[in-house]
Amino acid sequence: MFSFNNIAQYHQQFFDGTTTCLEATNYYLTKIEECRKLNAFVEVYFSESIERAKYLDEKRKNGIAIGKLHGVVIAIKDVICYKDHSITAASGILKNFVSLYSATAIKNLLEEDAIIIGNCNCDEFAMGSTNENSVYGRVLNALDENKVPGGSSGGSAVAVQAGLCMASLGSDTGGSVRQPADFCGITGMKPSYGTVSRNGLIAYASSFDQIGIFSNNINDTAKIFEVISGPDIHDSTVNQEKQKTFFVSHPEKIKSKKYRIALLKNALEHKSLDKEIKKDIYELTDKLKNDGHEIKEIDFNLIDFIVPAYYVLTTAEASSNLARYDGVRYGYRHKNTVDHLTEFYKKTRSEGLGKEVKRRIMLGTFVLSEGYYDAYFTKAQQIRRLLLDQTKKIFSNADALLLPTVPSTAFEAGMMQHDPVAMYLADIYTVYANLTGTPAISLPLFKHSNGMPFGVQLITNNFNELTLFEISYMLMNVYKTY
Ligand code: GLN
Repeated sequence: MFSFNNIAQYHQQFFDGTTTCLEATNYYLTKIEECRKLNAFVEVYFSESIERAKYLDEKRKNGIAIGKLHGVVIAIKDVICYKDHSITAASGILKNFVSLYSATAIKNLLEEDAIIIGNCNCDEFAMGSTNENSVYGRVLNALDENKVPGGSSGGSAVAVQAGLCMASLGSDTGGSVRQPADFCGITGMKPSYGTVSRNGLIAYASSFDQIGIFSNNINDTAKIFEVISGPDIHDSTVNQEKQKTFFVSHPEKIKSKKYRIALLKNALEHKSLDKEIKKDIYELTDKLKNDGHEIKEIDFNLIDFIVPAYYVLTTAEASSNLARYDGVRYGYRHKNTVDHLTEFYKKTRSEGLGKEVKRRIMLGTFVLSEGYYDAYFTKAQQIRRLLLDQTKKIFSNADALLLPTVPSTAFEAGMMQHDPVAMYLADIYTVYANLTGTPAISLPLFKHSNGMPFGVQLITNNFNELTLFEISYMLMNVYKTY
């Protein structure tokens, strides 16, 4: 019977002759069928992934060099373009739309022999924290079906949590990879802004969006990151230098290294933080201190400004990015004849877009409007600048920043549906990394007395993924508590 632990072991099994890509693919296809109820997938590429698995098995047997992700079964969020496959961003407005090209990240995965098994449910246009704003209905948390899996990449998170694939891709604009990873008890990583090409990623807020990775261990995350990142002529915001290789090659050395870790006091003392999460994180930092790591407590007085700044800037960008869904070029269009073009746009957008997306388009349009631009948009940009300055200072004498990922464990389903502000405020710990562009990861170190898992978040300086992976590896292997 097939079982998966990590990519390196899976590859070893090929050489031992104990498994094949076909066996792995069939195993996951069966599991996906068994777990239909979780609603994690929008579409499963049944016959296509079987064909690909056979092709890869043939390739290997013929002695052709294999790729870094040979036979690795990966699911992708329904906001990442894959040529000739449908893509909808879980929105009615993109119903029946088929990708005309593949995202650079997808091309990179395929070049290294990955198998893409299907695309995953999410919040509409990646806006949300519960995966309840989806035209396909809500995704269930596999550990407790009355709880949400988090969002917006809830389907991608559950696909890994429930063992329906080996790893998956999501997108993270304000925490949409780290927050669902936290709620589901897995690893979720958002790379530095500008490391993974956004070419082929449906835009929500372009100066924040990054493709991120869900998996069950750091080595796999690092390996996938290595494959999907890198220069790309199709995205001018991507760092044009190829980064170093990230694979953790000296585990014992990394585990015994000593790091300087910063804590934001005002974040850990924030009133919204669950007492038990706070206690466990302080216990972790005490242990780290006892083991010779340097813990630096830092005053951070901007904490209450980051969520407002995030929602002003991202809704502003979204209102402009989503203007393209007008019924003329993409997907859904209003059926009846109308006299005026404006009327046609209005009808199409009113019918095709969901409530949360409309709320954000209106908010974004408002903060960009002439009379309010300086009061909201400019102010939020100033906060972003101040955050960048603080971040520079923090990393001038610390290797990493340690934070909670979310103030609570997974929400009850339906709980946030009538209180969008409460939902926004729960992003308090994740949006910082998007405002500053820094790489960040949620590591599933803890279990709450309510039975749900939760993670700790680690952030390093821009483009310092290497340190992020090293410290993550150390934390996962020395300090995981369950
Ligand atoms: N919860 C955040 C939001 O709703 C995160 C979204 C994201 O990262 N895509 O905007």
